[in-house]
Amino acid sequence: MKGVIFNVLEEMVEEHCGMAVWNEILNEDLSGDGIYTAGESYPDEQLFSLVEAVCARTKLPMEKVVGDFVEFLFAQLAARHPVFLENPTDLKSFLKSIDSVIHVEVRKLYDNPNLPEFEYDEPDPDILVMHYRSPRKLCVLAEGLIRGAAAHYKTSVEISHPICMHKGADRCDLHVRFLP
Ligand code: ZN
Repeated sequence: MKGVIFNVLEEMVEEHCGMAVWNEILNEDLSGDGIYTAGESYPDEQLFSLVEAVCARTKLPMEKVVGDFVEFLFAQLAARHPVFLENPTDLKSFLKSIDSVIHVEVRKLYDNPNLPEFEYDEPDPDILVMHYRSPRKLCVLAEGLIRGAAAHYKTSVEISHPICMHKGADRCDLHVRFLP
């Protein structure tokens, strides 16, 4: 994974917990030297190990930390690459363009992107159902992405997740309801 992802994790921890906490986490975590250059590549395991250290330090569950991180990451990437958010002018068209738009960016950030697939259903004009399939089963990441995008487009949504791979299904269904 590119160093920029590590930089964003550092920014989030420093913003929410302060720089001292980030330095403590680096001191406890022995998987790397703690210096990450945006364009360099680092092993995925180093990021996972840092996220685990953040969970241990903040006593927050992994789902919460990862979800918050993705939401924060989205805002950072949106600020760095505004062009990718100019064309879809509303949240729903953005969500429907994830496979073709966001994944172009993700391929630059990950060395071996194992990208999820999204299929869509629109049972009602106010509801978008996103069918998520990925061997990584990171539906928590998909939810964080939707929340980050909703904040960017200043749109209120309700997300429900009635079908989940972590409950034995072959996919996750994320129901996004657009609130007026
Ligand atoms: Zn799920």
